[in-house]
Amino acid sequence: MPKIQILDQDIANKIAAGEVVERPGSVIKELVENAIDAEATSITVEIRNGGVTYMRVTDNGCGMKKEDARCCFMRHATSKISNIADLYAISTLGFRGEALAAISAVSKIELITAPEGEEGTKLILEGGKELSCDDTGAPKGTTIIVRDLFYNTPARMKFLKSDRSESGYVAALMERLALSHPEISIRFIQDGKNIISTNGNGKLLDVIYSLWGKELTKGMLQADTEMQQIRVYGYVGEPTLTKPNRNYQLCYINGRLVRSQTVFAAIDQAYRNNLFHGRHAVCILKINLPYGLVDVNVHPNKMEVKFSNEKLIFEAVYYAIKNALNKQTLLKKDEPIKLDQNRVEPKKALQNKKDPFQAVTILQKPKPLIENIENEEIKIQPQAEPKPLEKISVTEKKADKAEEEDYFVSIPKKSAFTLTSKKTLHEESAPAPMQETLVEIKKEIPYRYIGEIFKTYILIESDDQLYLVDKHAAHERMIFEGLLKERGSQKISAQAFLVPEQIMLSPEELSYAEQHIAEFMEIGFEISTFGAKEILLRSRPVCLTNEGAADAFCEILNNWMHGGKINATERENTALKTVACKAAIKAGNLNDTKELRALVTKLIEDDEVHQCPHGRPVMIAYDKKTIEKAFKRI
Ligand code: ADP
Ligand code: MG
Repeated sequence: MPKIQILDQDIANKIAAGEVVERPGSVIKELVENAIDAEATSITVEIRNGGVTYMRVTDNGCGMKKEDARCCFMRHATSKISNIADLYAISTLGFRGEALAAISAVSKIELITAPEGEEGTKLILEGGKELSCDDTGAPKGTTIIVRDLFYNTPARMKFLKSDRSESGYVAALMERLALSHPEISIRFIQDGKNIISTNGNGKLLDVIYSLWGKELTKGMLQADTEMQQIRVYGYVGEPTLTKPNRNYQLCYINGRLVRSQTVFAAIDQAYRNNLFHGRHAVCILKINLPYGLVDVNVHPNKMEVKFSNEKLIFEAVYYAIKNALNKQTLLKKDEPIKLDQNRVEPKKALQNKKDPFQAVTILQKPKPLIENIENEEIKIQPQAEPKPLEKISVTEKKADKAEEEDYFVSIPKKSAFTLTSKKTLHEESAPAPMQETLVEIKKEIPYRYIGEIFKTYILIESDDQLYLVDKHAAHERMIFEGLLKERGSQKISAQAFLVPEQIMLSPEELSYAEQHIAEFMEIGFEISTFGAKEILLRSRPVCLTNEGAADAFCEILNNWMHGGKINATERENTALKTVACKAAIKAGNLNDTKELRALVTKLIEDDEVHQCPHGRPVMIAYDKKTIEKAFKRI
């Protein structure tokens, strides 16, 4: 082993920089947080080339005196804590005194800063070393320009993504910062284009509107609940307003954006049974709680937090959303949006005092959560009774003989169905379907289409079996097989829109979409960019409806973005599955009997179709003996 050496300051700073400065976005985050800590009411962020060559953050905060400006780039230089006790009552975003040291170690910096009514200072640094320090005239506040990030650490430079993705990352970050501080006017300029501009009037809904547009804003409900010193407020989407991922679930704890599994779980629980499978609610939630109840010093980039009482946080979030959903009075669908209905947030979002402007909070009875959830389950779960079965068999017996015969159709060839479902009709009185068994329908044995139940399952009788077909799963699978065949070597055939669909995307989504135009084209989606936030969808796969197309596109986009490393065929398959799912008839919708019969005919002819492409069974069976046993006939 070589002899141990103490690293010199320069190397030590570069190593430390790796922890704080990963990419341009991490620099912007630190600089904007500093501006917020300096109590700025207006912050402008400008980047060029993904931020790699140029980043500027200008604020109108408290500014720094010359001696502070000269030492703020030193490690552990902070004005925010001075003793250990402070560490447990952190109310500012920064506190480690590490960011500026780390950033300046790996870039070229220009700092212009001035406190109110005082002379300004201009400081130039390269690789953390001060090159010059001069007096200058400057308005109150601070401007930091960071040039040529990682110019002296080429190894880090290599890890940067394309300028587009770095810009997308910064833009997404700026959105989140704007949402967390409606009381600060935030501007974001990317390569000369104005991307974000909020007016700083303190109204969260105004920020949501300016970032995400009118449609989304219309579906937002105001939430505000306080229990045991925990106040949860913000906006939550109506259950019809959903997204394919959690990108639109933002949670700010004491003003700090965090990702908390506890909060996600509470959101899911509050929307349980109200959302389509795989969809996520839109929620912008601010949680204010006494600083002692939360530890933010857990993760270097401070996205994770530890709560001293998880259950309490869970309940507070759960009730806040439930209360908002139950009220649903603020914005009715047809009413024009009144942005001024909303509360002005306190000037300093971090303060934990009760806000005098605040409307009275409503809190449901403080029942134990478990009990409440159980009650809800009983209410919401569809009741599974054996009655519908009886009813159907009775009516069918009375049916006209001729018509009944007409119902019997010969099965053209041998089919086998895998039974994998664990669903039962009723715990005690109805038989469980046979499980994990292969049921063969013998060649040339006729089947009879009985009808449909719960607007979801088609009943078929054949030989001594009763089949239940999930109409959506069956249709989805068939469409998927069709798409796979069609794809073979060619593009999925597309139908152009007469008027292209305009789709609003987050900056990250937009940048991803632009980089994958060709791939989308292959599966029938032709897209082109349109403005700074939108794309135009110009065509869709033929099997989709116009209305379903945008939804399918967004879902595919997000699946691809967050799907991890999978090969091209798998990527395409997930996309085609989404298309098939959106194109298929839906459970809960009414369908024409003819349509359903045709579906059954095709299904029985097709040996491939035993599971939906997502892996759920298409069909389950009950045999006559099991049913007879249940009725105690044998
Ligand atoms: P931290 O924010 O953890 O204290 P930083 O390295 O980010 O550490 O900043 C060091 C110090 O520089 C801060 O504590 C603050 O006093 C000062 N500072 C940084 N940015 C600004 C700004 N925009 N306005 C006023 N003071 C600033
Ligand atoms: Mg800081």
